[in-house]
Amino acid sequence: TKWSDKQSKALADLTEEFTLSTAQLEHLTAAFIDQMQSGLAGDHKSSDLAMIPTFVSGRLDGQERGSYLALDLGGTNFRVCLITLKGNHDVEPNSESFKVTEHLQEAHISELMDFIAISIKDFITREHISSKIAKHRSNSNTLELGFTFSFPVTQTAIDAGMLLRWTKGFNCPGAVGSDIVQLLQEALDRKEVKVHVAALVNDTVGTLLAHSYKYPNTFIGAIFGTGTNGAYVEATRSIKTMPTPTAKEMIINIEWGNFDKDKRFLPVTPFDNKLDRESINPGVHVFEKMISGMYLGEITRNILLHLIDRRLLFDGTSSQKLNAHWSFKTEFMSQIESDTSPNLTSIAQILKQKLEICSKAQIDREIVKAVCELVGKRAARLSAMATAAVVRKGLSDGGHLAGDGYPLKLSEKHRVFDTAAGVNKSETAVEKVHERTDSAVVHDGNLIHVGIDGSVFKLYPHFEERMVEGLTELLGSRAKDLVPLNIAEDGSGVGAALAALIATKNA
Ligand code: ADP
Repeated sequence: TKWSDKQSKALADLTEEFTLSTAQLEHLTAAFIDQMQSGLAGDHKSSDLAMIPTFVSGRLDGQERGSYLALDLGGTNFRVCLITLKGNHDVEPNSESFKVTEHLQEAHISELMDFIAISIKDFITREHISSKIAKHRSNSNTLELGFTFSFPVTQTAIDAGMLLRWTKGFNCPGAVGSDIVQLLQEALDRKEVKVHVAALVNDTVGTLLAHSYKYPNTFIGAIFGTGTNGAYVEATRSIKTMPTPTAKEMIINIEWGNFDKDKRFLPVTPFDNKLDRESINPGVHVFEKMISGMYLGEITRNILLHLIDRRLLFDGTSSQKLNAHWSFKTEFMSQIESDTSPNLTSIAQILKQKLEICSKAQIDREIVKAVCELVGKRAARLSAMATAAVVRKGLSDGGHLAGDGYPLKLSEKHRVFDTAAGVNKSETAVEKVHERTDSAVVHDGNLIHVGIDGSVFKLYPHFEERMVEGLTELLGSRAKDLVPLNIAEDGSGVGAALAALIATKNA
């Protein structure tokens, strides 16, 4: 089959719009670091990155022991876990899920919290947890709990945070503006559950901590799921918004989904703009909308409709399904990109079954696959850019990794990753990194681990490979070995338990 000239031209135009060159990625990296710095300085006028201090400080070595409870609330289910840290990087998880009914999602916050408190009490009784924990913590009969709460919160201590607004269908009166930890603690006390809420964490922070237990050099925790976000370890002296730093380092929740919301740097296309305008939160989280699972399918749908309207696809015919907003799921892109059969039969199947589109011509299926590749690849490369920017920030002066032992380390005279680094300057930066990394010996102690969670990273074909390619362009030829990307297990459970451990140790 041969594409017509018009089809080839349309695809070439799309390829140009959606392909990010190394130079473009370099430019974005510099802008990202710049916004990280403004965010850390509290200059929120010139930064879209909130850079929220989490009050989680101190390093893990994977030898920590003890049993902690974890509570994970962020969607239509909440989970109660007993996490036993066995030392030697080994964890024994044990958890149970409970449904947050529609009624509870809109009930008064005290009703929701009471329900959670009772569920925790049931879990403890059923699992005979008090006796298990006594083995580890004989001096106390109060259980310590870490709370993963995936809603926007401003934190004032490791165990205090004010809810800014509800999202994801929740709307419980009595919570916005209040300390969410206190609300939970009061319910536990009301229900006479002997549990102390020791720490409140965001899911990216949990991901970072959980990965640190396995790989103590974990520097970044990242999520590529429904949305996207990252957290990393920062030197506290660089956090200008902290009144009096007590620890040397602290985890920062970047809230990177909101990077460059004014689209000064991001190469947004008309398809992205259309999606943004029609979303429930126009004008914010523009970066997230180019990367994460909630949106990739919709961008693809917008492109397919554009091609249909020009009679370059499906003979110019759409279907009611394909015409409907959000009908093209990111999962479909995964299935489409996995189809390597000569006739692209599973692509035909998805189009038929999910979208009621009959793709008689092989060319149609090829075009659909090519469009998915463009959107998926751009997402992975932007994800690599954010990751590389955080690594570079860490290695730069004042960064947490600026100490000894990293083959990617930059010295005073290599301050080439500075904020204003333009394309040319950054190109030299890449060379420098090559130079330094190629001669250095790699051992586990000097790896910069990235712990990642989220279905897009885990399930989207080639996402990881494309990310590694982007990292290599930005961090040098040995990025794959020096900055390993791995799936972090159970950030919201294990990570919350580790936050509780850190909080009780520091208390
Ligand atoms: P969450 O981020 O909400 O905790 P997940 O990490 O499972 O949960 O992410 C869910 C998102 O991942 C959804 O937007 C969904 O479209 C997307 N997703 C689920 N399965 C796949 C898949 N096979 N390929 C690509 N994206 C997927």
